Amino acid sequence: MNLSPEFWKHKSLLEMNEAEWEALCDGCGKCCYRKFIEGRGRREKLYYTRIACDLLDLQSGRCSDYNNRFKLDTECTKLTKKNLPQFNWLPSTCAYRLLYEGKPLFDWHPLISGKADSVKLADIQIKNGIHERDVIDWFEFVIDEH
Ligand code: SF4
Repeated sequence: MNLSPEFWKHKSLLEMNEAEWEALCDGCGKCCYRKFIEGRGRREKLYYTRIACDLLDLQSGRCSDYNNRFKLDTECTKLTKKNLPQFNWLPSTCAYRLLYEGKPLFDWHPLISGKADSVKLADIQIKNGIHERDVIDWFEFVIDEH
């Protein structure tokens, strides 16, 4: 992989190459959980849920068909340097959001810990996830912002 040493400290998001951009993802899987908006205007409210995209492996937090995800789930959107500002619903622990807001990465980020399972060990992933195909009433699965 073409990663400069500690690139997340020295490069802006725009300066990162493709490999560095991809490596920023800590693999928590939180962005693959459904959200929904109720109300309009000032009454608009965003709800986070523990309802996962059907493609998400609930144990690992990884997509079970990463290469075909856009074909299999039409709601799946690639996070890019261009659309990141619109992704203000990303979890507060997300590396992209943290760097965009000028904050440092957490020590448990695999780029810092050097271990792929440090996200799991730090208890960052959403617990008791359920697949969308198994849910009827979304309100039953609303959780606090993560
Ligand atoms: S929330 Fe951010 S860090 Fe976590 S899987 Fe999604 S893009 Fe990666």
